[in-house]
Amino acid sequence: MTGLEIRRPDGASESLQAKALVLASGGFEANVEMRTRYLGPNWDLARVRGTPYNTGDGIRMALDIGAQAWGHWSGCHAVQWDYNAPWHGDRKVGDNFQKHSYPLGIIVNVEGQRFVDEGADLRNYTYVKYGREVIKQPRRAAFQIFDQKVVDLLREEYRIREVTKAEDATLDGLARKLEIDVEGFVRTVRDFNAAVQPGTFNPAIKDGKATRGIKPPKSNWAQPLDTPPYVGYAVTTGITFTFGGLHITTDGHVLDGEGRAIRGLYAAGELVGGLFYNNYPGGAGLMAGAVFGRIAGRSATREAKSA
Ligand SMILES: Cc1cc2nc3c(=O)[nH]c(=O)nc-3n(C[C@H](O)[C@H](O)[C@H](O)COP(=O)(O)OP(=O)(O)OC[C@H]3O[C@@H](n4cnc5c(N)ncnc54)[C@H](O)[C@@H]3O)c2cc1C
Repeated sequence: MTGLEIRRPDGASESLQAKALVLASGGFEANVEMRTRYLGPNWDLARVRGTPYNTGDGIRMALDIGAQAWGHWSGCHAVQWDYNAPWHGDRKVGDNFQKHSYPLGIIVNVEGQRFVDEGADLRNYTYVKYGREVIKQPRRAAFQIFDQKVVDLLREEYRIREVTKAEDATLDGLARKLEIDVEGFVRTVRDFNAAVQPGTFNPAIKDGKATRGIKPPKSNWAQPLDTPPYVGYAVTTGITFTFGGLHITTDGHVLDGEGRAIRGLYAAGELVGGLFYNNYPGGAGLMAGAVFGRIAGRSATREAKSA
């Protein structure tokens, strides 16, 4: 590592000498080819929640000089995201394409089948896993269904103009509007309603108000869908960032294939691998970027000064 080459706004290249540098150019979530290669089928068609520029450049540059790939390369952070959201993030709408009140209702696919336990845990511990489940469904689509008992509890993001939503007085009418298989959907809701157990609904805690005898179960916040008009929101998968990346020391130093630190090369943020596997607790991305960014910056400064 002797510096870096940049492209200036006028298109010309320039070489900058540096004794140490910190890579912080994000994961590969905006790179269609890398997403397909590492995350698998259908990930080429995911919406990207953020910038179109996080195409894995920093990761690839480091790998090219011998850095070690590390962490959960086939894993990523993804959420349920409006079905008609643009391919990349929209600064005006921002986070509001996400739809995170599903613990209050049920989620079905185009066949009208449920496929996750909407109440398995508080949403901060399930929203990332369930974003990934949606991409496995037909047409990479899912529908969050609520009745009037809970609509007032839906998060602000359900009330934006740019939302893919339908409402109807009947379940079959709602299914037709959302292009869900009518028979499958009505059967699912009938079975779900019959499986709801008594208890006190309390969305502020894991209330244990669950279903019995259906698969998948709903483990908390289970209430029958019986108060029309019914509302449904269409979502697909929006990817936030990828979990795989570079191997670093606790000083932020990038390691090579033999586990030796690469002189002058540090990394922080999304392009660090090994922080998240399978799931993610809400808020950890910015915290990881801030903490490891500070550590890597200090370490790089120390090395540059002593070089
Ligand atoms: C819509 C959305 C909502 C989020 N909400 C939360 C939240 O509530 N809480 C939370 O903790 N985290 C959240 N995150 C995740 C969090 O934003 C990221 O984990 C964090 O920003 C990662 O920081 P970073 O510095 O690694 O990458 P980024 O902040 O993405 O910065 C990488 C930068 O590198 C630039 N870049 C890429 N390639 C190159 C190149 N070749 N040359 C020059 N520049 C390049 C990019 O343009 C970009 O500016 C959210 C992310 C999104 C997209």
